[in-house]
Amino acid sequence: MNKHDLLKKHFGYDSFRPLQEQIINDVLNHKDLMVVMPTGGGKSMCFQLPSLMLDGITLVVSPLIALMKDQVDSLRANGITAGYFNSSQVGTEQQEMLQLLKENQLKLLYVAPESIQLLLQHLKPTDVSLIAIDEAHCISTWGHDFRPAYTQLAYLKQSFPQASLIALTATADRATRADIKKQLAISHAQEYVASFDRPNLTLEVRPGNDRLAQVRRFLKKYKDDSGIIYCLSRKSCEKLADKLSSLGFSAAAYHAGLEHRFRESVQEQFIKDEIKIVCATIAFGMGIDKSNVRFVIHYNMPKNIEGYYQEIGRAGRDGIDAHALLFHSYADMIQLRNFAGDSGNSEVQIAKLERMKQFAEALTCRRRMLLSYFNEYLENDCGNCDVCLNKPDFFDATLITQKALSAVYRMKERASLNLLIDVLRGAQNASVIDSGFQSIKTYGAGRDISWNNWQQYIIQMINQGLLEIAFHEFNHLKLTPQAQAVLFEKQKVQLAVIPKPEELAARNAKA
Ligand code: ADP
Ligand code: ZN
Repeated sequence: MNKHDLLKKHFGYDSFRPLQEQIINDVLNHKDLMVVMPTGGGKSMCFQLPSLMLDGITLVVSPLIALMKDQVDSLRANGITAGYFNSSQVGTEQQEMLQLLKENQLKLLYVAPESIQLLLQHLKPTDVSLIAIDEAHCISTWGHDFRPAYTQLAYLKQSFPQASLIALTATADRATRADIKKQLAISHAQEYVASFDRPNLTLEVRPGNDRLAQVRRFLKKYKDDSGIIYCLSRKSCEKLADKLSSLGFSAAAYHAGLEHRFRESVQEQFIKDEIKIVCATIAFGMGIDKSNVRFVIHYNMPKNIEGYYQEIGRAGRDGIDAHALLFHSYADMIQLRNFAGDSGNSEVQIAKLERMKQFAEALTCRRRMLLSYFNEYLENDCGNCDVCLNKPDFFDATLITQKALSAVYRMKERASLNLLIDVLRGAQNASVIDSGFQSIKTYGAGRDISWNNWQQYIIQMINQGLLEIAFHEFNHLKLTPQAQAVLFEKQKVQLAVIPKPEELAARNAKA
């Protein structure tokens, strides 16, 4: 049977999605491939369909043990002989799988990376015709979800020299792709990178003050719809879910600290539309195939753009309009910066967080910025992000910028953002008095500007590269070389006008 007939017969589809057919052709021609396709793009088809046309077995390496059984069940329901092999199975179940393998009764075998060694003892080099590495970003410490067990996959190419190898992931920038290929010993592999643009997703970023009230207003617009709210901590998931439930919303929490059975039931009820809102850590969503998620809210800032993109990608998979709302707060930034600093390869993590922050603070089209992260360039502004929809006005902010920068200078670059604002506004609280900064010349020079507006302006200054946060030095603000030009060379500065609170409220109420 040819591939179109097989597509129809086993999966019920009439046509291939973008890139699927080319990828399948290459797989059938025994090529090694590196495939990057957004979540929901149809990666599985790229190895499931060829497995039916190749002689031997297709090994699918996946870290998602919890989903293997479902995946295999649905393949079987489609008349495809599939099995799985992982540590969640008891000995007799594993024996049964090995028996099926021996009797040549499997086309596809899903295996967890930890279980491969064990499985290898039962496979001859010639048994395997195709190896698919799903969630391949897990192999790279450059990726955002590194799994040590994945680093053991390098020998697969040696163990099965005549099998072709296809690495698939939804998230891998150029450096990560190169690293994955190198580690899997498929440096020559052809790359396929599908478009990351999701034009039906409205992108929005809002300041994170009064989040609960903002969320409540937002949810009123999505009364009967499903959505996910991502929170940073387990506790905040639970708190938010409780709060929303008590306000009459259909909400539940989901995080890795909850009992397995409870988690499964939340996931199942969400898929069946019995629970509308899941307040979750990033543990939720991997591999969930629910097409009618209408919104994804990031209650806290994600660690990096890959994660953000993957999470918002769970909305609007049916192609109908959906909304991705991100709350951005300075406190989150500090917390994430500390996490990143404590992690292994902290430099990479910090740089990635910095890109995330730039995205959140952008005053230019967000979609352009997001796609440029994946090396994809839009010709025009998208018209479907908050920046495009509310083009900010700019004003000549040279004077207020000079005030802020000169205060930083006079405080010998030893003040945090909060203290800087207090000093500019002439506050008389303990931290100002203790620091002795009430005697500097710019003390109180910015009384006429509200605390919140100062915060926004200074964040813009940081974003424009005039100031930077010295995270290793108590988050003190430091002047950059560019700041010198503003302080001493009369360089002009433009900042975006901050909408008045009532304008923001009106806008949010409309949103
Ligand atoms: P990914 O792994 O890239 O996130 P999946 O492989 O889970 O995506 O596919 C997402 C959904 O798209 C699944 O429901 C799958 O059956 C469906 N799908 C895949 N290929 C096609 C196709 N050619 N036509 C229609 N639907 C498809
Ligand atoms: Zn835009």
